Amino acid sequence: MTLSRQEILDEMGLSPQWVWREQPTVARQSSSTPPPETPQTPAIAPVVVPQPAPVAPVLANVEQVGWEELRQTIRECRACGLCAGRKQVVPGVGDENADWLFIGEGPGAEEDARGEPFVGQAGKLLDAMLAAIDLQRSADVYIANAVKCRPPGNRTPEAGEVAACRPYLQRQIELLQPKLIVLLGRAAVQAVLGLDVSLASLRGKTLAYPHGAEEIPLIVTYHPAYLLRNLPDKAKAWEDLCRARAEMLRLRQG
Ligand code: SF4
Repeated sequence: MTLSRQEILDEMGLSPQWVWREQPTVARQSSSTPPPETPQTPAIAPVVVPQPAPVAPVLANVEQVGWEELRQTIRECRACGLCAGRKQVVPGVGDENADWLFIGEGPGAEEDARGEPFVGQAGKLLDAMLAAIDLQRSADVYIANAVKCRPPGNRTPEAGEVAACRPYLQRQIELLQPKLIVLLGRAAVQAVLGLDVSLASLRGKTLAYPHGAEEIPLIVTYHPAYLLRNLPDKAKAWEDLCRARAEMLRLRQG
């Protein structure tokens, strides 16, 4: 069943405060009366974040493998203690040519059982968030986690576990070459950026993920599981999504 945009916003708990209007064109962005509900996105003045210290790759040549070999390597990986409790690994899902990369923390019980990230209630909300900005997980979006195996009791992955798994995430970024990265939650920020700071201090900005000689624009927002427990912050997540959508539009227009 295809949901209408209003139904999607209802699903996210964003009505009637937030009513999506069509994205402004470049000409409209420069007009004096921008649409009131879309946060103003400044031209990229990226805050360049330091890249975490490199760790020894799990595979000597992990930085050279393609998608299938990478998935197979992850399936067989026993580089950290999380392998002991997993039912199966959860490498990632989506379009391997996507412009959008969403990164969460790690698999939960349902993800561990199904081998796919963001299923269950948090996954439903993420799908609604994607749909609200005209995206779906099967097209132009790739979804991955900082660690590919479920931490016991759904605890936050430890620094050593994140470091052990980082080469896989870095290879996914290299293979995907996304135009934009969206980090979902504080643990993803710690894993990807190596920053132990509050989410509030990073929201509302376009950051830059150092990637070789280039930088990939990066936006931080709340994890859907957090939003399920903190309904008032859905409105802030909506602001972040609007920022991300406007940023992507700007990137595509060059
Ligand atoms: S979490 Fe990552 S590094 Fe640890 S066993 Fe799983 S795939 Fe390997």
